Amino acid sequence: MTFRLLLLPLLLTAALAQTPDVLFVNGRILTLDSAGRVVEALSVKDGRILATGGSAALRVQAGAGTRVIDLGGRCAIPGLIETHCHSLGAAKAALAGDYAEFHTIADLQNWLRAKAATLPPGSWIETPRNEITRLKERRFPTPEELDAATETHPVLFVSVTKSVLNSRGWKALGVTSPASKVADGEVIFEEGRPVLLRGGQAALRSVMPVPTPPSPEAVRAKHEELVAIYNSVGITSIFERATDRAGFDYFREQAANERLKVRVRATFRFAAKDGAGTAAYLDKLGLQPGEGDAMVRATCLKITVDGGIHWGTTWLSEPHGEKRAAFYRNSDPAYTGNQSYSPAQMEDIFAAVNRRGWPMSAHVTGDGGAMAVLRAVATVAQTQPDIRDRRFNLIHCYFPTPEMAALAKNLNAGVDTQGYLYYRDADFISQIYGPEWAERFIGLGEWVKAGVPTGLNSDHMIGFDPNHAMNAFNPFLMLDIAVNRRDDHGNVHGEKQKLSRLDALRTLTTWAAWLSFDENDLGSLEPGKLADLVVLDRDYLKCPAEEIRRIRPLATYLAGSAVFAR
Ligand SMILES: [Zn+2]
Repeated sequence: MTFRLLLLPLLLTAALAQTPDVLFVNGRILTLDSAGRVVEALSVKDGRILATGGSAALRVQAGAGTRVIDLGGRCAIPGLIETHCHSLGAAKAALAGDYAEFHTIADLQNWLRAKAATLPPGSWIETPRNEITRLKERRFPTPEELDAATETHPVLFVSVTKSVLNSRGWKALGVTSPASKVADGEVIFEEGRPVLLRGGQAALRSVMPVPTPPSPEAVRAKHEELVAIYNSVGITSIFERATDRAGFDYFREQAANERLKVRVRATFRFAAKDGAGTAAYLDKLGLQPGEGDAMVRATCLKITVDGGIHWGTTWLSEPHGEKRAAFYRNSDPAYTGNQSYSPAQMEDIFAAVNRRGWPMSAHVTGDGGAMAVLRAVATVAQTQPDIRDRRFNLIHCYFPTPEMAALAKNLNAGVDTQGYLYYRDADFISQIYGPEWAERFIGLGEWVKAGVPTGLNSDHMIGFDPNHAMNAFNPFLMLDIAVNRRDDHGNVHGEKQKLSRLDALRTLTTWAAWLSFDENDLGSLEPGKLADLVVLDRDYLKCPAEEIRRIRPLATYLAGSAVFAR
C-alpha cells in the first residue's frame, strides 16, 4: 500500500509530462525524415516534437491543457532555414534609405528623379545597390544618363570598387579635366570627359556627408520588423553569415528578452592573413565553438577568398579574357580574379582554426578559387584528419564541376549557394561567360549527385521585399528556381541541374541543418526535434510546378508557438 501511494504521483507526473501543449491534426505534414513520411498529426511538448502519426492516434495523448490545431487538410513542412543572410546589415541599410530594385537604366533614372524632387539642390544622391549584370543594358550607366535624371544634385552610382557620377558629382569630387587626380582612385576619361572611377572610395566619402549611425533602439526595431517578414515567408532559422561579437551579443540579448523570433547561427568573418593572426582574432572574440543554445549559436568562422561575378573579381580557373574584361571595365584580360589568400596562407589559417576546434567556411565564388580552397583543406587534412568532422562550408561556389564536387564530398564539406543569383544573373552568365558556364552556374544537381549537403539561400543584405530585395529571400521563389531552373528571362540553363521537389526542400531543411550541426534539432519533423513548422496555402508536393513560387505560408511556428499567422 505504502509502495503504491509512493508510486502514484510518479506515474501521474510521467503521464503529465507526456501531455502535449499543442497538437496539430488533419494535416498533410511532410516530415522530411529519412523515409520521407507524410503524417496527419504532430504533437508538441516544451517546444519539441513529442510524436508524429495519425490524427486519431495522437488525439488520445491530448489533455485538458492541450491546444488542438486543425490543419484542415493543409500541407505543413519543417521551418525553413535561410543559410546565408545579413539580417542586421539589412536592418541598418533600411534605416539609411529605401531599397529599389532596377531592371533598366530607365528604372534608375526614374528613381533618381523622384529622389531629387524630395531633396534640396546640391545634396548628394547615392543610388541603392544594383548590379550592372542585372540591368537590361548590361553596362554601367553613363554620366549623361545620370545627368538626364538630375543636374541639380550630385549623383553616385557604385558597383563596389567602380563608380559613375553625374557632371555635378564629378565637379564635387574635383574631377574637371583629364589632369585631375583622385587620391585613392583612377578616373577613366573617354572623349575628354570622365566616365568611370576605379577605386576612389576614400576620396568619395571625403566629399560626401558622413551619415549619422542609427541608434541601437532604431536598429532593434528595424531588425524585429525584418524578422517578422522572414517569419511570414516561412523562415524560422537564419545563418547570419558575417557577424562579429557585437552582433552575436545583440542576438543573445534579444533571445534572453524573448524578442528573437528566429534562430540564429552565427558565422564570424575575420581578415587575418595567417595562423597567428587567426589565433589572436579568436582570443579577442572570446567565444567557444558551438557556444550558445538552440536559439543563438556560434557556428563557424569565415574568410573572404575572392570577389564576385557582379564586379569581375571572381577567381576563375582561366583568365577573364577580353569579353569579360570589357564588360566589367577591367583593364587586364589576363587577370583571373581576386586572390586574397595564397594556398599557403589558407592552409595556415585553416589549420589554426581547426586546432581551436572551430568549423571554417570561405567566401569563394569562382571555380579556380573553390579548387584552391578545397586543396588547402585537403592539405590540412593530411596532418589534422579531424578537419573532416568540422564540415567546411563552401560559400557561393557558383561553378561546380564533377571533380570539385567529388573533392568536397571526400572532405565532408557542404555548400551554401544562392538561388536569386541564378534567377537574376544566369542570362548574363550565358551571354558574357558562355552557355557552358551558365549550365554549371549554381549547379545544384552537381552537388546533390555527389552527395554534398547543400543549402540554397538568398545572401539577403538590402531591402525588405521578399521577392525584390538584394537579394530576394522568399524561400518559395528559391524552391521554384531549384525545381524549374527558370531564370527571369524564362530560360533554363543546364536541365540536369534541376532538383526533385523533395531534394529542393532538403536544401532549406535537412541539408541546411547539417551545415550548422543542427541535424538532431532542426530540418525534419521527428520526435525529439524542435517544433519549427510552416503551414502552407497549397500542397508543395502536389501543386503544379509553376505554382511553387506562389505558395504562401498561412502560419509559421517556432518551438510550437505561432510567430506568424495570416
Ligand atoms: Zn553574404
